[in-house]
Amino acid sequence: MKRIAIIGGGISGLSAAFVLEKRRLAGASLEYVLFESSRRLGGVLVTEHVDGCLVEAGPDSFLTEKPWASDLCREVGLGDQLIGSNDADRKTYILVKGRLALIPDGLMFMVPTKIAPTVLSPLFSVRTKLRMAREWFHPPRKAEGDETVAAFVERHYGSEMVDRLADPLLSGVYGGEAAQLSVRAVLPRFAEMEATHGSLGRAMLAARKKMARASKAPARPLFTSLKNGMQQLVDAVVSRLPASALLTNGRVQRIQRREGGWVVSAGYASDHFDAIIMATPATSAAELLRLTSVELASELGGIQYTSSVTVNLGYKGSVRAALPPGFGFLVPRSEGKRMLAATFVHNKFPHRAPEDRALLRCFIGGACNERVLQSSDEEVVNIIREELQQIIGLTADPLFTRLYRWQGAMAQYGVGHLERLGRIEGLLQQLPGLTLAGNGYRGIGVPDCVRSGSEAANRTLLTLGVREVAPQALTS
Ligand SMILES: Cc1cc2nc3c(=O)[nH]c(=O)nc-3n(C[C@H](O)[C@H](O)[C@H](O)COP(=O)(O)OP(=O)(O)OC[C@H]3O[C@@H](n4cnc5c(N)ncnc54)[C@H](O)[C@@H]3O)c2cc1C
Repeated sequence: MKRIAIIGGGISGLSAAFVLEKRRLAGASLEYVLFESSRRLGGVLVTEHVDGCLVEAGPDSFLTEKPWASDLCREVGLGDQLIGSNDADRKTYILVKGRLALIPDGLMFMVPTKIAPTVLSPLFSVRTKLRMAREWFHPPRKAEGDETVAAFVERHYGSEMVDRLADPLLSGVYGGEAAQLSVRAVLPRFAEMEATHGSLGRAMLAARKKMARASKAPARPLFTSLKNGMQQLVDAVVSRLPASALLTNGRVQRIQRREGGWVVSAGYASDHFDAIIMATPATSAAELLRLTSVELASELGGIQYTSSVTVNLGYKGSVRAALPPGFGFLVPRSEGKRMLAATFVHNKFPHRAPEDRALLRCFIGGACNERVLQSSDEEVVNIIREELQQIIGLTADPLFTRLYRWQGAMAQYGVGHLERLGRIEGLLQQLPGLTLAGNGYRGIGVPDCVRSGSEAANRTLLTLGVREVAPQALTS
């Protein structure tokens, strides 16, 4: 019987446990224990129901294009609970000189694919629009090592594009800065497009034409979520795992290599395992591995994380009419505000707020404003309300507010991240039985975390030589 420890009960660790459970039920000789330091499972996936509204504390959805989270939902019996974003109403604004400017139709991240809406948009100056036209003739360029997203975008479209679009979009996803994040790790498709086509505009159009030829199916929504929120995925996965394998309030304090395996110490107990799946943030993994491999701990500790706060505000339904139509807005740093973004939740997804309620979700924090975590709840809510008033003229008193602090939760893939991962993989080869999963490595979104957990479990089974038995679906 092989014994496996999973450390970390966020969606990465739970996805790993789910794969192991399928193998166990299929007759594989294995046992596993999942250690989670907090009293609940799910990590940053937390949903609350407040005053008839569905409030997401962490992620509210995931990219439909990446299949792993939807696949897991279907496997745990939630196929009929998947919902798509209301893309017919998908409008997003950027704050430019104190006013909201609509992101023009056809803009794919920062690449324009439709001429008229881009030319007419107040989002960009004439100078940037001319840069966009010139970009069409950008020559192919083989990557000579990594660079920041800011340097890459600036080369194609100029600095205004970095400030008004690339940076706010990345703050929204990573809580990071375009001037720090690695283009090869964060936007690998764009780096490839530059190498093969030169112009991102031409590359994007070629890709869209190819897709249109290959598929006549109607376009899928950009984002997918669950009717009852992201917590529904956590609950469904947990309900398929034996309670005896799940150790909440089980902070792992130490791990040690011993007798060809690993000893895991949590609280006053120590236990022997053949393998470990480390599904914590890389910072926690670094702490736990300091005694095992100083080099590995130092590489893991080099992966930076930022913190953020999400503030949900529920209002009377009449507030809906006072908001601009669409999903919400992003705030470039140059606007001098502290808020990074706001989502009009009741518009983005169905089933989020009753008709007589409006629900807003705002983000604050990120790489440039870690200090906000030191502010009291009241101070943070006041900042958000003041800025909502300045940006969209919202003066109404909220019926409720819910604030969630996420300390060091968002990994930042800095320049050289992929090279760092190469070194980490080399060091792991000297530590058989140890596998890493989580948002610190090859994707920060929920689907990537599901994939990383599942792959870590499969790799562990392979290393341990656990007999391949066809996995059974655990759907009810
Ligand atoms: C505010 C916010 C909004 C986001 N929005 C989106 C979104 O809309 N869409 C999207 O796709 N992604 C989003 N993300 C990113 C995504 O949700 C996360 O990257 C992903 O859920 C991380 O999952 P994880 O399991 O790797 O890590 P976590 O959820 O951080 O789980 C790690 C777990 O490890 C535990 N742990 C740590 N140390 C120990 C220890 N020593 N012993 C035992 N347990 C330990 C922690 O308690 C934690 O529960 C968002 C993230 C945040 C914070």
